[in-house]
Amino acid sequence: MAEPEKLSLPWRQHVPDVAAAPPIPPPPVKERSCSVRMSAHDFERLGILAIKSETTRQQLLKDALAQFLEAKAKDFGCACLGACNSNCGRDV
Ligand SMILES: [Zn+2]
Repeated sequence: MAEPEKLSLPWRQHVPDVAAAPPIPPPPVKERSCSVRMSAHDFERLGILAIKSETTRQQLLKDALAQFLEAKAKDFGCACLGACNSNCGRDV
């Protein structure tokens, strides 16, 4: 195993300015929830599909939402649908 390099840093003369500190990274984006009411029949069918697909109702709904939003985005100029993170200039 290599010896760790000996560091000979000059003694710090001053505390660095606050402005020179690296920017604080944005907090991680939280997922939001939105409950969906459905018929008992659909609920049962979703449960059967979840078992057959070895997943959960929640995941099936998330997948369906992703497909829906992707299809809707084709009607707009940007996949943001007006809630843009890249400032495409579209408003809802
Ligand atoms: Zn956009």
